[in-house]
Amino acid sequence: MLPRTMAEIERTSNFIRHIIDADLKAGKYASRRWSGRPGPAAQQKVGAGTTVDEAKIRTRFPPEPNGYLHFGHAKSICLNFGLAQDYAGACHLRFDDTNPEKEEQEYVDSIIDAVHWLGWDWHDNKYFASDYFQWMYDFAEKLIEAGHAYVDSQTAEEMRASRGSLTAGGSNSPYRERTPAENLDLFRRMKVGEFADGTHILRAKIDMASGNINLRDPAIYRIRHATHHNTGDAWCIYPMYTYAHPIEDALENITHSICTLEFEDQRPFYDWLLARLAELGCVNTPLPQQIEFARLNLSYVVLSKRKLIQLVEEKHVDGWDDPRLPTLVGARRRGFTPEGFRRFAEMIGVTKSDSWIDISVLEECQREHLNETAPRRIAVLDPVKLVIDNYPEGQEEECLAPNHPQKPEWGKRPVPFSKELWIEREDFMEAPSKGYFRLFPGNTVRLRYGFVVKCSGCDKDANGNITAVHCEYMADSKSGTPGSDNYKVKGNIHWVSAPHAYAAEVRLYDRLFAAEAPGEGGRDFIADLNPDSKRVISAQLEAALKDAAAEERFQFERHGYFVADRVDSQPGAPVFNRAVTLKDSWSRK
Ligand code: ATP
Ligand code: MG
Repeated sequence: MLPRTMAEIERTSNFIRHIIDADLKAGKYASRRWSGRPGPAAQQKVGAGTTVDEAKIRTRFPPEPNGYLHFGHAKSICLNFGLAQDYAGACHLRFDDTNPEKEEQEYVDSIIDAVHWLGWDWHDNKYFASDYFQWMYDFAEKLIEAGHAYVDSQTAEEMRASRGSLTAGGSNSPYRERTPAENLDLFRRMKVGEFADGTHILRAKIDMASGNINLRDPAIYRIRHATHHNTGDAWCIYPMYTYAHPIEDALENITHSICTLEFEDQRPFYDWLLARLAELGCVNTPLPQQIEFARLNLSYVVLSKRKLIQLVEEKHVDGWDDPRLPTLVGARRRGFTPEGFRRFAEMIGVTKSDSWIDISVLEECQREHLNETAPRRIAVLDPVKLVIDNYPEGQEEECLAPNHPQKPEWGKRPVPFSKELWIEREDFMEAPSKGYFRLFPGNTVRLRYGFVVKCSGCDKDANGNITAVHCEYMADSKSGTPGSDNYKVKGNIHWVSAPHAYAAEVRLYDRLFAAEAPGEGGRDFIADLNPDSKRVISAQLEAALKDAAAEERFQFERHGYFVADRVDSQPGAPVFNRAVTLKDSWSRK
């Protein structure tokens, strides 16, 4: 399977919209009299001082705060917040922090920044799953009392052995028939810390013979003597993700709980659990429904958290915000735009079947938005001097360059012109190849927005390296003057005035991996790193770029889109990162 490219992607109709449309048409949520705040059913009833949940639908983006958000998360964010926006609903930002060990404040902060940066707002719907621990615990007691859960005291080994396989059912635990009273006693003693990790576990009582392994009495609470970033040492038992997540959705009155395909097999448990809790009066109905979609996979990119951590820890990149990483903080430093991501999410749509998207699609979405919004500037990335021998020494004048060729209303800016300019080294050839129209001895070109010049030769050092190119200019050929029409030339090159130029560090970023599917076929993915993914150069830039503010984006004419780095730029001394080239240089033949 080849990744889908721009040309191959049709605007996929979003199947999730069809589900929501049908739910709304059927009036599924019309009779809700809930408050808009999370809580169990009893606390949700709208009474004095509470407001009715006005949102037509509720979705959520539920990251686990154990890493930085990446391009895959951007798909999920745009989907969930986008649906809420389109249907006059609400989208919650919920930190799924039920796992005590891995979560850190640094990740919480970076997630908040990234979602805001993408342009979405959860208003006052920011929640932490760990705030619901008491409710989750109370519900577990209710399940025990109703005979829907029991404490198992088998060893992990024994539990694994009795679980069965994909083809054979499992067998009942010898502890399965404990009475509710016995179970409640044990569970309470688990809670107060009487037992060591792994000695007991609370399991849902469903069906050990089920064809779906996830329904064979799944674990719902385990003992973990660990400190939690939010609840500290208040708890030594923690809910399993598969138990916690449906409850989080129900407490928050989520209507459509959208997740990736690997949770499809968990849906029967999701539904079973919430149906039992609704019967017990713990949660509101209608219940949230889980809907799965295909996660984003991108060519030339790794999105697995484990691999991203390895790239950072082994210092293959310069930290989590390295512009080459597929993290959102990295993309931001790279000069990618939130609008480009939203365009991309819209473009690829959501489907039920595995999708593998060519990275060029994202790059093209970025390019499109940058093309519309980035002012043009001039930059010489590989400078060599051009000396205009017949231009008066000490003279200078202004040429006018448009800020955007398709937007005359953006106006023109003056760029200084003088006797010595910087031009690109590749814009001169002493012995031109066939079809080369730029500078070579005897040839005439236009210095874009300036004069027509005729090349007369070059200077070289002892090693034969070209140190300067010489030319003569036609004084009546200045762009924008009547005389300029008298000259017909094939070459048109850019330049900056040497005495006025701003010499700056520029980082030329390219794809981090040189292979379409890094690590394919059991290869170490590290071996697929692109050795040329970062090149740092000293460039000569148009003087006005000296005043660029951090995160200001530009098109450097003929080169691509660049951004003033938000970390390393100093006032009056910006450093630039290349976001994307003008054209896709990687496209398949
Ligand atoms: P892990 O669960 O291994 O820690 P994760 O990438 O699933 O990693 P979460 O923080 O749980 O991380 O993800 C938050 C949300 O983002 C989830 O709803 C998940 O389905 C979604 N998500 C994660 N990766 C992708 C992806 N590649 N494409 C689309 N959605 C994704
Ligand atoms: Mg996850």
